[in-house]
Parts: sequence; structure tokens; C-alpha cells
Amino acid sequence: MYFLVSNKIMKFIKNIQYVLTILLIFFYAPVYGGDVQRLTVSAVGDIMCHDSQLAAALNRKTKQYDFKPMFHSIMPLLQQADLNIGNLETTLPGKEYKGYPQFGSPDSLAQAIKDAGFHILTTANNHSMDRGTAGLQRTLDILDKNKILYTGTYRSPAERMQRPFLTIEKNGIQLVLLNYTYGTNGIAVPRDVVVNLMQEELIRDDIAQARATNPDFTIVSYHFGNEYERLPSEEQKKFVNLAFAEGADVVIGSHPHVVQPYEIKRITDRYGVERDRLVMYSLGNFISGQTKPYTMGGLLLYFTLEKDKTGHRIKDVRHQQVFTVRPPGSFSLQPMPQLFDTALFKKLPAAKQTEIKDYYQDVEKHLLPSVRMAATFRSSAPATE
Ligand SMILES: [Zn+2]
Repeated sequence: MYFLVSNKIMKFIKNIQYVLTILLIFFYAPVYGGDVQRLTVSAVGDIMCHDSQLAAALNRKTKQYDFKPMFHSIMPLLQQADLNIGNLETTLPGKEYKGYPQFGSPDSLAQAIKDAGFHILTTANNHSMDRGTAGLQRTLDILDKNKILYTGTYRSPAERMQRPFLTIEKNGIQLVLLNYTYGTNGIAVPRDVVVNLMQEELIRDDIAQARATNPDFTIVSYHFGNEYERLPSEEQKKFVNLAFAEGADVVIGSHPHVVQPYEIKRITDRYGVERDRLVMYSLGNFISGQTKPYTMGGLLLYFTLEKDKTGHRIKDVRHQQVFTVRPPGSFSLQPMPQLFDTALFKKLPAAKQTEIKDYYQDVEKHLLPSVRMAATFRSSAPATE
């Protein structure tokens, strides 16, 4: 009898507990982070197309270029993010395909980039004008055809007026992306097209205009810095600080062709908003035919943009190294250290294996302060409006 009553009471208490839990989740979840919106972004550096890549992509029988196999091994890396951003450092002129110094690549490169998992390409860089007005315009037409979003260059001044920056809405988060380059290798930009140049006033005006659309996050991509330098220049720091002061949350850097550190800085912008802000000074090459020291690898940098009722924050900043392995006649972009366990790697000469492993370790060491900064910041991560 005693046990019977006790069991009934226990059942009653359990039911009450159940109802209370449901009520708690229902009323408090939105306040305590139940209603969180998250967008994981990956950014990569320069997507280039040198003569050696063209030769590797060409099928001599069909005369067609196929770049897809080059990206095959890194596709799972891009699938880890909701949004993948790269820098297209070539043009798509439709003819006369060549690498350095004035890049012009087959349209199938855009298709391979799309199929690999990229959503957005920045197009303002020192090679934007390599094939003149027609080359710049056609590049954007082909990106449209492949449903790749882009910003940084414009088919006309009217097009720039219409959308000076790119607005993306995904997973309930609205972000804007702006892109600028230090120059166009001395090639004049005619009045009928626009390449966004790193001019302080222009950047200030654009970010203010972007901010007026009330985005959750603002990303600025700069093509800047000194080639082959592994640390950011004073000029890079100046333009990063400018973007942050104007309200940017993230700055993505490319052009030096080698990896430079990333940093997280807590900065109050000119509107009085205090937030943690992320800069990657240079992500290095994503894929290229370059062979100079440190140019055969690059980074995918992941970060998560998060918002809830308590504010906006950047979380989970982490990097993934990639390396372009070049067995004779082919190109293969590979994640590291995963590469070291592959048959492809084991077939490479012993000296080459050592060289790649040394490079990997060297870059990890170079990025140690960045990794430490990301780890401390992840554990604190205070939310701010
Ligand atoms: Zn460049």
C-alpha cells in the first residue's frame, strides 16, 4: 500500500516537472539564446589561374578546360560553412587564355568554383583590368550565368550607383560585403566601368551607406599589402582600422600570396558600438601556379556570425590550411594536415614530403598567436548590441 501511494505521488511529481520544463523552454528560450541565428562563413584568398594550371586543366583531345578535379578534395571543407567567399584574381574574357602577367581564364573555371561550393567572389584586385573593359564586363556576365554573387567591380557607373555593396541574407542574418583594391597594375580604368579603389573617402561613404540598411554584420574585403611579406604592413593596418572605426565587423585581406596572421580586436566604432572584430590580413593563395616560398599554400578561415536578443557576436574563429600539390601535369588543392595520410602524398618524393610538412609546421607556428587569441576570445565572447 505504501509503495502504491508513493509510486502515484512520484508519477504526479514527474508530470508536474515535465509541464514546468515545457513552460520554461517556451517562455525563456527566446531570452536565453533559444532564438539564436547563426551563419558560418569561410573566406579564402587568391583564386588564380597561371599557365601551369591552364596546361593541367586542358584536355588535349577535346580542347576543353576542366578545373573541377583541382578542387575536388577541398569540397568537404566548403560544405562546413553556410557561405563561402573567395577572391577571383583573374578575368573571364572568353578567348586567349593566359596566366601571368595579364590573366584571362576559361569560363569553366567559374563553373568549377561554383561546383566546389563558393557562393561569393570579390572581383576588385590588381588584375581586374587585365583584359580591359570587355574582359571586366564579361567576367561579371559569366559569374551571373553561374549564379555566383560578386562585388568590387561594375559593368558601368550606373551599376555601381545601384548596388555599391553586396547584401546577403541567409539563416536569418543580413550581412553586407564591400570590396576594394589598392590598384590595377597601372592599367587605367576607363570611365565606362568601375573598379573599387582603396580611397579613404569612398570607403567611409560606402560603409555609411551600407550601415544605413541596418545589416547585422558588415564585411570589408581589401586586396592590399606587400607581396610575399608574412606580416601586415602599416598601410594594411591603417585601412583595417579605418574599416573598423567606420563600423565593419570583419576584414578579409588578400594579395600578398602568403599567409599573414589573423586577429580579433575589441573596438568601439564611431557610432559608439563596442564589438569584437575580426581581421585576416592575408589568407595567402587559395590556388595558384606560384612556386615562391610560402605561396603554394593558404588558409580557409572559418567564423560564425551570431545574433540573438542579447546582441551580435563573432564566434568560433578557426583556420584550415590548404596546399596545392602538383604531381607532373596535374594540380590538386588539398587540406592539411589531412593530406599527409593520402596515397597522393605518399607517392611524392621524400624530399617533397618533408618540404610540405615543414611548410605546414612553419605556418602553424606563424599563426600560433592568432590561434591563442581566437581561443581566449571564444571563451569570453561577451554579447553587444
Ligand atoms: Zn593581387
